Amino acid sequence: MQNYLSKKAVGISPYTAGAQPKEKNIIKLNTNENPYPPSPKTLQAYENFDAKKLRLYPRPDGGELRKTIAEIFKLHESYVFCGNGSDEVLGFAYDAFFDKDIMFPNITYSFFPVWADLFDITYNLLPLNANFTIPIDKLKAPGGIVLANPNAPTGIALSLDDVQKVLKNNKDCVVIVDEAYGAFGAQSAAPLVPEYENLLIVNTLSKSHSLAGLRIGYALGQPHLIDGLVRIKDSFNSYPIDSIAQCVAAAALRDKEYYSGIAKKIMATRESTKKRLEDLGYSVLPSCSNFLFVTHKSKKAADIKKYLEENKIFVRHFNAPLISDYLRISIGTDEQMDTLIQKLTKFEG
Ligand code: PMP
Repeated sequence: MQNYLSKKAVGISPYTAGAQPKEKNIIKLNTNENPYPPSPKTLQAYENFDAKKLRLYPRPDGGELRKTIAEIFKLHESYVFCGNGSDEVLGFAYDAFFDKDIMFPNITYSFFPVWADLFDITYNLLPLNANFTIPIDKLKAPGGIVLANPNAPTGIALSLDDVQKVLKNNKDCVVIVDEAYGAFGAQSAAPLVPEYENLLIVNTLSKSHSLAGLRIGYALGQPHLIDGLVRIKDSFNSYPIDSIAQCVAAAALRDKEYYSGIAKKIMATRESTKKRLEDLGYSVLPSCSNFLFVTHKSKKAADIKKYLEENKIFVRHFNAPLISDYLRISIGTDEQMDTLIQKLTKFEG
């Protein structure tokens, strides 16, 4: 058959997302979703939404959602960009700020190299230290830096001082700090935004606000950076967030008490699960996120994953250099983690 694809479509290696199994009654610990439902106030906003309004296009800038994010971070609205999930915001950011010679760690969010390839941006991978921490002083590139804090899939967080070092070492290019997992114990760099003209923070409501299905991401940065993102957005899709999503996401962000409560619960479950896994012979990296990155002293990660899947528990295994012995386990409810530990205890034989 004739090849109908562009050179780009043929040449790229797309990102592989964690599986979304169709089976019912599974324990899903493979894509870092929040195990708790959106808050009652969030669900109320969804129910109260006047569907007749769907006749009109939504606000292209996120409207009420953008205003709410600006209020929360005590920034002017011109410092806020809203997008359809943080993956979209990150993709726009690559297109807006990077031409060539960017850098990110060799073990990090596996979407980072995919956007670089998509937009033909050359990149260098910075090898992590043996304990999976980032050698901060070496994170330096002329064209741009991309950093997940906490890092994924390790869960290890950088201090604010370290983020500041990266910003100072890379003054002539944009430093993107992806804080997708920032709600679970890391220090946010958001307070640095007014001070650093090269800082772009990207965040999502997928994990912290139990809204992975709504697709809401946002960026914080000085207005010249936000303008860059808007230029790319308006050259691709002017209305990335639908009216329902704008309204529901804004209600979720206003309900701080509920969401900080479930983040605390997840952090407590994470720490107790870490200890129980260590008792079973696993090494567990210190995590500031809603997942644990673990390796067993003798059993192969791929075998553990297969066994868990047979028992209807889904975790993530990356068959990639340096981390193929590891599993990434999202933190579920206490009950779900009890079942996980029970099954893993059985697997010990
Ligand atoms: N950043 C990191 C580090 C992630 O793990 C994810 C989730 N896969 C995202 C960004 C994207 O999240 P979303 O598009 O759901 O906002």
